[in-house]
Amino acid sequence: MSSFIDELNDAQKAPVLHKDGPLMVIAGAGSGKTRVLTYRIAHLMAQGVDSFNILALTFTNKAAREMKVRIANIVGSTEAKNLWMGTFHSVFAKLLRIDGNKLGYPANFTIYDTQDSQRLISSIIKEMGLDKDIYKYKQIQNRISSFKNSLITVKAYRNDPDLVEQDAMAKKPRTGDIYENYVDRCFKAGAMDFDDLLLRTNELLTRYPDVLMKYQNRFRYILVDEYQDTNHSQYLIVKALADRFQNICVVGDDAQSIYSFRGANISNILNFQKDYDNVGMYRLEQNYRSTRNIVNAANSIIGKNKNQIEKVVWTANDDGSAIKIHRSPTDAEEGRFVANSIWEHRMQDQMSNGQFAVLYRTNSQSRSIEDALRKRDIPYRIYGGLSFYQRKEIKDVLSYLRMVINPKDEEALKRIINFPARGIGGTTIDKLVVAANHYNRSIFEVMENIDKIDLKINSGTKRKLQDFVTMIKSFQVMNETTDAFALSEHVAKKTGILLEFKKDGTPEGIGKMENIEELLNGIKDFVEGQKEIDGATGNIGEFLEDVALATDLDKDTGDDDRVALMTIHLAKGLEFPYVYIVGMEEDLFPSGMSMSTRSELEEERRLFYVALTRAEKQAYLTYTQNRYRWGKLIDAEPSRFLEEIDEQYVENLTPVDGGYRYKPLINADIFGEVDKTRLRQEKPVRGAPPIVGQPNSIQLKKLRKIKPQLAEPVGNTNAIDPNLAVGSLVNHTRFGRGKVVQLEGSGNDRKAEIMFDKGDIKKLLLRFAKLEVL
Ligand code: ATP
Ligand code: MG
Repeated sequence: MSSFIDELNDAQKAPVLHKDGPLMVIAGAGSGKTRVLTYRIAHLMAQGVDSFNILALTFTNKAAREMKVRIANIVGSTEAKNLWMGTFHSVFAKLLRIDGNKLGYPANFTIYDTQDSQRLISSIIKEMGLDKDIYKYKQIQNRISSFKNSLITVKAYRNDPDLVEQDAMAKKPRTGDIYENYVDRCFKAGAMDFDDLLLRTNELLTRYPDVLMKYQNRFRYILVDEYQDTNHSQYLIVKALADRFQNICVVGDDAQSIYSFRGANISNILNFQKDYDNVGMYRLEQNYRSTRNIVNAANSIIGKNKNQIEKVVWTANDDGSAIKIHRSPTDAEEGRFVANSIWEHRMQDQMSNGQFAVLYRTNSQSRSIEDALRKRDIPYRIYGGLSFYQRKEIKDVLSYLRMVINPKDEEALKRIINFPARGIGGTTIDKLVVAANHYNRSIFEVMENIDKIDLKINSGTKRKLQDFVTMIKSFQVMNETTDAFALSEHVAKKTGILLEFKKDGTPEGIGKMENIEELLNGIKDFVEGQKEIDGATGNIGEFLEDVALATDLDKDTGDDDRVALMTIHLAKGLEFPYVYIVGMEEDLFPSGMSMSTRSELEEERRLFYVALTRAEKQAYLTYTQNRYRWGKLIDAEPSRFLEEIDEQYVENLTPVDGGYRYKPLINADIFGEVDKTRLRQEKPVRGAPPIVGQPNSIQLKKLRKIKPQLAEPVGNTNAIDPNLAVGSLVNHTRFGRGKVVQLEGSGNDRKAEIMFDKGDIKKLLLRFAKLEVL
């Protein structure tokens, strides 16, 4: 037996060595599912299976690349080259470029991102004269997306009285018309949206048995990671492709199913045994990732869910330290705690930045964390949120490039036809759109023929339109002989975009110009990388494909050392030595929008399970008492999930004799009975007074005896200077020089009111304020 198999335990070896036929591995976090998938591919290849015949579907392209590297290390890099590996979207985009012409799509079809889809839907709503307050474009886009993921075509929609009725009841009877219009317009623009990549693949495989057979024969072995989060459309593609040889291997964990809001369907796991005959079922139980404390704590949480496949997860790893819970008065303080803690671990435990991750429920929570990390000079990278490629100036440049590849691309054209300004106004554009719809052609085609149609456009404007057409065509000519970098540099200069931002001269304008330069650098790197790959040329089409399908994690080249900030959804499958889960508060996590039914709450709980099981050595859970949300300071209540962790695995770091009030949630045993029913209610009572006074001296003593370190507030690195008095001159790191005008409170609660030279008066909590007495 080859030696690499010995890097697996017996339970892992079984699915790796499983002979042909369907198999499924269901197992908890960190038990080696992804490792099994990787080793199974390597094993197949070592057994002589041609890599050309293997298809592996992963959650991110980055995961696919890492797997490829691992496999290349085991079996050799030339062998691994032919593997088709990647996300569903990137793999099937590749397939559609080859065979999508059968459905009437050009090989160079554009991939519309969500922003493009939303803009198109928004203009359709406007063109149809509908009320945009009723027909909200984001909602409509969501609904159309969910139709597509359930394979409900326009025709199927119209034939389904329930769906039609639903929209009529929601006062949106024209939804079907918008849907139809949207599909037509995408098609005419030679564009597919993300959902089309799956929907059209299904259509292709169903309507063209010869195409289906071709790919069934090619992909004799199909492997899917994170199977619990596949949606219906993905499920059908896999099922169709695997139908002939039935060599399908799926791995997943029902306890980590967290995408039901995007149509993921857990029944895909539950029905696997019904879908295929003689399924090999495997379980893995040993977790290799985390300390025993983390594994046990995670088990205690997920055990609260009713709907789950029963499974055991244990670890032979050390106990490790307890999961640390920290409460802060505000979100700014929470950020500061996280930054200080990372700083301390870096120093004490010789850790690098890349070994830390901060996870949150929603993207907007990153701001306070970022502020604190910046102040501490800790480098970080944010994943998710508005990506680089979605910034306006970047999208503008990319739109020119998209036009070069596919001039029918309507969304690209509308962005740049008058940017930089060239005197083509809104009325002209409206006329072009109407004509394009009327003649059933693209806008660009209408512009090419502007002399032949009477649109009541004056001759000056006509000339401008013709100039635009000529310019795009000249780029197309250039594209035939140059690589992506030379072309993009030419486009950025020739169109005047660079100059536009330079002229602007404001810091924003300069920032935008720098971003465009950054884009050009990125294209240069890309071109150089592509030239090393067989068959790739480094042209702009390849670059645009890469951009369109890059998930946020893909841009992580791992070459610089930064703390990772991301939502929990994005962290699935990843691991970090230190993990901070911030914002452990009711209404935030669990999310206020997901607490009304048991199944929604269970999905939030699975999300918490995913978050906690990312940690290898140490997990921190933090919450605040007050948080800015929607521009208002609100009272926050600790998350019910904090209560749900078996308390033997947690340690409360929060100073109970600190300057803020104590809420007896975690150490309820020490402080006597707490009304837990209130905390467990599915809908928390808002505004209920949650405060019990500070612990008395006996309670404090008891507490100190049990956990003496609790009295030592973490994050409080500033000793209060005994020389500080009213009238003292002080220097503050951020506010500068000032004079103390008043002092109040005592101990950790001591505050100073300071009049700063810059003119503002501020009240500062001394144990946090960085003050130097002058
Ligand atoms: P998740 O559910 O989070 O996706 P997973 O089940 O896919 O987790 P892996 O990521 O494959 O788990 O494995 C978790 C960690 O444990 C990885 O660092 C992996 O390399 C390591 N690991 C798994 N099995 C073994 C083993 N037999 N020996 C040593 N390390 C292992
Ligand atoms: Mg995994």
